[in-house]
Amino acid sequence: IWVGHRGGLSRINTANFFVKPIQQYAGIKSSCEFNANAVFKSDNDRIFFGSSEGLWVYDPSRIKSAAVPPALNITSISVNDEKLPVSRKLVLPPGNYKIKIEFLGINLKEPALVSYQYQLLGYDRSPENTRSTSVVFPHMVDGKYTFILQAYSGDGVAAKSPLAVTIIIKKPVWKQLWFYILGIILLTGLLVAYIKRRDYLHLKERKILEEKVRERTQEISEKNALLEKRQKKISQQNSELERYRNYLEDLVNERTKELLEAKNRAEESDRLKTAFLNNLSHEIRTPLNAICGFSDLLGDEKLTKEERLEFIKTVGSNADSLLLLFNEILDISRIEAGQLDMSKEKFVVDAVLADLETRYKVNNTKKLEFEFVNKTQPSGMELHCDKKRFLQIFNNLLSNAYKFTESGFVKFGYKISDQSAHFFVSDTGIGIDKPEIDKIFNPFYKVEGDQSKLYRGAGVGLTSVKKIVELMSGEIWVESFPDRGATFHFTLPLPTENSTDEASGNLKTKKNKDILKGITLLVAEDDPDNYTLISRMLERYGAEIKPANNGQEAIDFIRANPDIENCVILMDIKMPNVDGIEAHRQIREINANIPVIAVTAYASSEDIRRIRDEKFEDYVTKPVSAQTLLQVITKFVKKDL
Ligand code: ADP
Repeated sequence: IWVGHRGGLSRINTANFFVKPIQQYAGIKSSCEFNANAVFKSDNDRIFFGSSEGLWVYDPSRIKSAAVPPALNITSISVNDEKLPVSRKLVLPPGNYKIKIEFLGINLKEPALVSYQYQLLGYDRSPENTRSTSVVFPHMVDGKYTFILQAYSGDGVAAKSPLAVTIIIKKPVWKQLWFYILGIILLTGLLVAYIKRRDYLHLKERKILEEKVRERTQEISEKNALLEKRQKKISQQNSELERYRNYLEDLVNERTKELLEAKNRAEESDRLKTAFLNNLSHEIRTPLNAICGFSDLLGDEKLTKEERLEFIKTVGSNADSLLLLFNEILDISRIEAGQLDMSKEKFVVDAVLADLETRYKVNNTKKLEFEFVNKTQPSGMELHCDKKRFLQIFNNLLSNAYKFTESGFVKFGYKISDQSAHFFVSDTGIGIDKPEIDKIFNPFYKVEGDQSKLYRGAGVGLTSVKKIVELMSGEIWVESFPDRGATFHFTLPLPTENSTDEASGNLKTKKNKDILKGITLLVAEDDPDNYTLISRMLERYGAEIKPANNGQEAIDFIRANPDIENCVILMDIKMPNVDGIEAHRQIREINANIPVIAVTAYASSEDIRRIRDEKFEDYVTKPVSAQTLLQVITKFVKKDL
């Protein structure tokens, strides 16, 4: 196919559609344009073309096909503008390269029409056509490429064989398999290390957390324990307060009761005083009347000797009963003043009681059965006490038994039990009504029951008896029913081997007012009223009283007088600054022998245990009485005082 066009004249080979420009070698100017439809083929196969330059005639049969293939060569290879020796294989280290390949297809007939076709396998997708004799690949990176080059003559005849250049650009290390494997191994290792590290950190964190939780738990449980302790303390304080409140209530009730009793007693005593005065006048007048009357009668000369003796006996017995009455009244006043004298001696009881039996039998005008029950089997039991007072007890009980019994018997005796002797006086007399039983030991009390018979007496005998028994550390009580007689019981302690006569003897034989003479009493008491009370109570027994307003002052006193003798400390437990317990401890360190007696406001069993644990010599509870204080203090009074 011949084509005339604006660029010139071209021939298309229908066998391979190779387009051959023909103007260059045909002498057609490049400015020559062929016009449309200005073509004509003659019968002899000549072709006429009309152009801007004139008419052109071609005879295709004269145009011989030049089937000479071009000779193809690669003339140079340069990498990054640096020429390398031409070879078919190019191996380059990893990198980014600009590769330029220059080549030349030689066709001597139509050298200008030689064209090329190339393809860089691994780089281009499809072959490229060019008339240029070089090609540049500006950015070649690692990989394996094959540059295939073919050259064509102007007639489209290909070079005998295409040329191939292998270009190998090595992969960088990091793109190599082993690097990947190593990388994977490394990454795996790192991952494992990371996981392990993370686990380790987690573990560490967990441990720290656990430790913190443990610490907090411990802290909380400690706080809980502290709270519990505080709660316990509060509840203890509450119960202590409760106890104290109860104690106060009890105290108030007790005091109210005491006041009521005191009021009743005062009324009773008023009544009794009147009764006593009336009674006394009767009790004195009766024997006096007999004494005076019979004394007058004794002057009568007409009296027989028997009558005279009878009268003298009557005067004597009335004088005796008058004396007895005076003695009883004196005893009562001594008891009231706390000055009842007591001595001590050892005596065999059987003999004394047998003697009493004889004496009562002599005057037994009522013909009662009178018996000392132990007489037949005397035990030889000894007592160690005031014999006179012992006789006074029996005389009182026996004379009452005789007085209130008209028929039947009066029996008396004793039994020995443990460390004490149990005495009794039993009669078959009028007996005592139950409500009276508690009262008959009161001073001046007489049962005014049956008015048909008047019983003589001032109503003070049993009061003295009770006091004497108590001073002898015994007890007295009565069992009785109206008209069925009465039995009076009393106990007295038996002398023990190690009983020190002196200790108790001293107490009882000494005048009470001197009982604390020579003793220094250190009274540690913060309440001024309590101090005044205690000092007033004890001053009158001869003690030298030293005050201490609190535990510290008590300690200071003992520190200033470390060798003080005959000193007893009365230590209040609750005091400001240094309390009694602490003061006692410190005093013990200075002087281990000084007796310290605890004075406590309220004594629960726990307080008492604490006082005992602290090894106080003894304790007394408030409200204190002079007698209790005296009893406790005198335990620590030395013999030679
Ligand atoms: P008194 O001098 O009046 O006997 P007491 O103090 O000895 O005084 O006795 C007080 C009262 O106790 C008596 O007045 C009497 O009422 C009662 N009493 C004492 N002993 C007996 C007894 N054995 N039987 C009945 N009553 C008694």
